Amino acid sequence: MAERNGRDLPILVAGGGIGGLAAAYALAHQGFPVRVFEQAPEFREIGAGIQLGPNIFRVLDRIGLKDAILADAHRPPAMEMRCALSGERVTKIPLADPRFDERFHYPYAVTHRADIHGAFLKACQSSNLVTLETSRTVDDYEEDDDGVTIVLATGERIRGRALIGCDGMWSKIRERIVGDGKPRVSGHIAYRAVLKKEEVPADLWQPDVILWAGPRTHLVHYPLRRGELWNIVAVFHSDRYVEGWNAEADAGELWAHFKGQRPEVLRMLERIETWRMWVLCDREPVNDWNKGRVVLLGDAAHPMLQYLAQGACMATEDAVCLAEKVAAAPDDLSAAFAAYVQERYLRTARVQIMARVYGDFYHARGPAAELRNQMLGARTPEESYDGIAWLYGGP
Ligand SMILES: Cc1cc2nc3c(=O)[nH]c(=O)nc-3n(C[C@H](O)[C@H](O)[C@H](O)COP(=O)(O)OP(=O)(O)OC[C@H]3O[C@@H](n4cnc5c(N)ncnc54)[C@H](O)[C@@H]3O)c2cc1C
Repeated sequence: MAERNGRDLPILVAGGGIGGLAAAYALAHQGFPVRVFEQAPEFREIGAGIQLGPNIFRVLDRIGLKDAILADAHRPPAMEMRCALSGERVTKIPLADPRFDERFHYPYAVTHRADIHGAFLKACQSSNLVTLETSRTVDDYEEDDDGVTIVLATGERIRGRALIGCDGMWSKIRERIVGDGKPRVSGHIAYRAVLKKEEVPADLWQPDVILWAGPRTHLVHYPLRRGELWNIVAVFHSDRYVEGWNAEADAGELWAHFKGQRPEVLRMLERIETWRMWVLCDREPVNDWNKGRVVLLGDAAHPMLQYLAQGACMATEDAVCLAEKVAAAPDDLSAAFAAYVQERYLRTARVQIMARVYGDFYHARGPAAELRNQMLGARTPEESYDGIAWLYGGP
């Protein structure tokens, strides 16, 4: 039944990460008032890089933020995979290249998380339809015929037309809607660090995204912030589990896994004094992200491993799709949310599943690694584009 009441109430957003702010701005862009509740004392992202495929720029263009997010980004000329044991190039895919532009019409870029998050934050702050609130933890919610009431950790109750759960991998809203317990621990750990350009040995500095694939490890590096910074992520297999995205890491554990790899890899690792780490988790894909006027978005809906570098891209695609569905059915948000889930769940499920496959590819050993090198090495740039067109050509 279409909703009659509560049209003047804001839509509530739990979580002010990239997904939450993208959703808030996309909804405001369509003319809807939004209130964002973030549990941290300020809106901020951790110090690390993020890759952005052409698919995110396609949707950013629809909400007028493409240029704002490209402004501080770096555009790598190519993405290259190298063998971490032999140093051989496995494959190289041109990115800042007329063939890529002709195929996908939008760029590939890498940026600092703080820069993309900051661009969404600035856009939200410039809109008089978005209210941003920090140190506000959403603990629970109640739904009735006319709207949703959220319950904060302080006990305060706040009324809205609907609730969007953008509260990430360990989402409380998801517990209520899907109820599938804790995320799956992948057994992979990512160590990350950001250096200034002058801290990187000159002969190792490269404008490309470089991935060194090793047995049960890989190392990725690329420049950030118009080339002024340098992002390094080292991933290896480990059973350690620490919840959260910002734990201090143990360098000894890292060295044990990268022993015997190419000097370029080891010299890069040596540059880092303090590592932070993520224990990588994901979930099985599901398609029940909505119940009435409550819906999930971003990592709360479809947490994925980072091997396709798409979690933030998918959250942003979700945000723009959700806002468009709300604009198409402004009097029936339950129907709008159902239409959004219908449009999004198979695409995001494919990324969740393929990210695991890519992780296996990167970390292959023995014949599996040989096979990978043979398959990828034989591809022309056009064939590489064909292989990823399902992702970069959407949504
Ligand atoms: C190693 C690594 C590399 C990655 N690389 C890429 C990449 O290259 N490209 C890419 O697109 N993606 C990448 N990702 C994925 C991407 O970082 C995430 O998918 C994306 O940040 C998810 O955004 P989100 O807003 O959904 O969740 P989050 O960023 O987790 O934000 C959730 C927010 O909600 C807040 N919150 C949580 N609970 C509550 C509550 N109860 N009440 C109020 N607030 C709450 C949190 O404080 C946080 O601010 C990578 C991830 C990892 C781990």
